[in-house]
Amino acid sequence: MSSDSSSSFDVVVVGRGPVGSTLANLLGVCGVRTLVLEREAKAYHLPRAVHFDDESMRVFQTIGLSEAIRPHVILSPGMRFVDAEGRLVLDWPRSAELTPMGWHLSYRFHQPDLEQVLNDGLDRWAHVTVRNCCDVFALDQDETSARVRYEDLCTGQRAEVRAGYVVGCDGARSLVRRFICSAMDDLGFHERWLVIDVLLKRDRPDLCDYSIQHCNPQRPATYVRGTGNRRRWEITIHPDEDAMAATEPDRIWSLLARWITPQDADIERAAVYTFHSAIAKQWRNGRLFLAGDSAHQTPPFLGQGMCAGIRDAANLAWKLWHVVRGRADHGLLDTYQSERAPHVREYIELAIRLGGLINTKAMAAGLAAGVPRQDAPAKLDVRTPLLGPGLSAGDTGLVGRLAPQFTLSDGGRSDDRVGYAFALLADASFAGALSPRERAALATAGVAVLGSDEAAGLSAWLSQNDIAAALVRPDRYLLRTVRCDRDFAELLAALNNTARVPPVA
Ligand SMILES: Cc1cc2nc3c(=O)[nH]c(=O)nc-3n(C[C@H](O)[C@H](O)[C@H](O)COP(=O)(O)OP(=O)(O)OC[C@H]3O[C@@H](n4cnc5c(N)ncnc54)[C@H](O)[C@@H]3O)c2cc1C
Repeated sequence: MSSDSSSSFDVVVVGRGPVGSTLANLLGVCGVRTLVLEREAKAYHLPRAVHFDDESMRVFQTIGLSEAIRPHVILSPGMRFVDAEGRLVLDWPRSAELTPMGWHLSYRFHQPDLEQVLNDGLDRWAHVTVRNCCDVFALDQDETSARVRYEDLCTGQRAEVRAGYVVGCDGARSLVRRFICSAMDDLGFHERWLVIDVLLKRDRPDLCDYSIQHCNPQRPATYVRGTGNRRRWEITIHPDEDAMAATEPDRIWSLLARWITPQDADIERAAVYTFHSAIAKQWRNGRLFLAGDSAHQTPPFLGQGMCAGIRDAANLAWKLWHVVRGRADHGLLDTYQSERAPHVREYIELAIRLGGLINTKAMAAGLAAGVPRQDAPAKLDVRTPLLGPGLSAGDTGLVGRLAPQFTLSDGGRSDDRVGYAFALLADASFAGALSPRERAALATAGVAVLGSDEAAGLSAWLSQNDIAAALVRPDRYLLRTVRCDRDFAELLAALNNTARVPPVA
């Protein structure tokens, strides 16, 4: 076993899927010495995720890649539910307006395109090293560091590196999860679906831009318009059906026959996936962490699996950065699972309910008959969940939610001005009244100040919420609000602590 000469890193990321790559880019932004170890030579070339949301795009903006991603996405107009006869039973449109995040609610994309942009983005950071064809097989840790052992699959040589922290972004069958010794909390949904991606050979505008949920009790199915000439169908496989037989071309075309024929399209790939719903019970053991599919798996009906992993990365990266730089103690890292796990659980439960709606005879019948049901989508609550307890607990109902993004008077955007850092969004009169000592305290703690005279809509947002200022975390979640002088004095006192990261109010 050779000890790698450049063998000491702040963070080792295991796996360079979309989550590992996003995390490594965020650590790149922070200047954290990072090694990414990936088993494969190249990004996985076949499609999986087809949808991401405004919050994910905001994270891509933070890592400076939103403009590079934009040419690879199209906007989604929404989702329609139809019965077995094709009658519309429910419409769930997505607005074409920008959301308070400063982005659109729903983007369609091709996962390999996104991964390519994210991976290329890693080349920008001198302190981020990527090693492909490196299979991690063992981990251990002591009080000072973690040891990562891996095999270079090109040479067969084994090597080891040491790091302050290891994050397993190594997918659903995570090795890091095994070393953390975490069991999974099974949320009960496990179904086989045949996923068919086709490439159109001729225009088929009748297939439409909406996602269509075919609530056909005999054979529930989902249609999704992809980017360019890509189209996808996800079709239930019955328990008695053989997965191999389901992917035979004749069988695929017979399942697709009511929508499309071989004259219209070529099959890019067809595979049977078992969609799971599960959350790891333990996301951290000392210096080892989980993020993305290693920590949670969701049925794809809401298009939130990867999005949840992107949120993990945004939550964890700044905390690792602060601990690695000695600005916060290790306890800050405990807030990662406590904040993220309840948030992702809510999305998974919602996805299961949506899957039930598409799947279940009774629900489809109820919908077709126009009978409102408690779990029908008209009643589905698609509000973004709150962060779980952690730094952002308590206070006014605002903390634990995402802060809006504002357009600046110079045409720029507030996130770009602030960077991946803390920000005080303040009423102009409040910001103008800050003393030199207060400004210095904020600057020393790395808090950017943005006044409402510089940002359109900020004044209205502050007064709607009856606050003079709000402290926002680097991942854009609201941490503290300021209504009175005492609130601000407490905020400053917290910033003056050696731990710098403001504790819970
Ligand atoms: C059919 C389908 C449709 C989906 N649709 C959506 C959607 O619309 N929207 C959405 O948000 N999500 C969707 N998802 C989920 C999404 O694809 C996943 O959540 C996402 O790919 C997870 O990213 P990840 O980086 O956590 O893991 P992965 O993408 O699985 O990446 C893990 C990486 O770790 C590497 N690795 C594993 N073990 C090791 C090791 N020991 N050493 C080194 N490297 C290792 C692997 O090679 C891989 O590159 C869908 C999934 C499927 C299957």
